Amino acid sequence: MRTFEEYKEIEVSGRVVFGVVHAFGNLRALASQLLLAEGIGEKADDGMVIVDAMAWFPLDRFMRAFDRASQQMGDPVLHQIGVSTARTAEWTPNVRDLKGLVPQIDRAYHLNHRRLGKVMWDQATDQMQEGIGHYVYRARPDGTMELEATNPYPCAFDKGLLFGAMKVLHAQGAILHDATHSCRKRGDKSCTYIVKA
Ligand SMILES: [Zn+2]
Repeated sequence: MRTFEEYKEIEVSGRVVFGVVHAFGNLRALASQLLLAEGIGEKADDGMVIVDAMAWFPLDRFMRAFDRASQQMGDPVLHQIGVSTARTAEWTPNVRDLKGLVPQIDRAYHLNHRRLGKVMWDQATDQMQEGIGHYVYRARPDGTMELEATNPYPCAFDKGLLFGAMKVLHAQGAILHDATHSCRKRGDKSCTYIVKA
């Protein structure tokens, strides 16, 4: 089990945690157990977790809860969490379609995390703080978009996040995992996704 000590100064937005709780549906008791065991959220009378979407939570604890979710539930649930998070997370302004969104994902990612109390993407200066990896965007010669994820979230989560973003935008397209590239599921540092808009 990884401890994720390197993320001790970093917090994740309650909007992301909220997305996780909602993804579980009938398995909400399990999500509650995983999050509460890491001290995330409050326990309601029925034993379920209550998450304040406006609060911030320690990223190392959140990642440990994610790690357990990966071990106990597998990729379909992680994918579903990604889809759900796309609905609850904060996005950068003025995004209307996938072509506009994909190059902005790294900014949105940093917008939903903060380091030492400061949001990690400053909209006014367009500066990002380092510490949580990136979503590196590249346009491919064939017109598709490539996104390399070097963040600590699981592979299936990111694929779900992209798929969910497409649904939020009511866009048509396809999200593929580039099998010729490395994969975090195999312990590598990054995964690469191909987005066809
Ligand atoms: Zn992968």
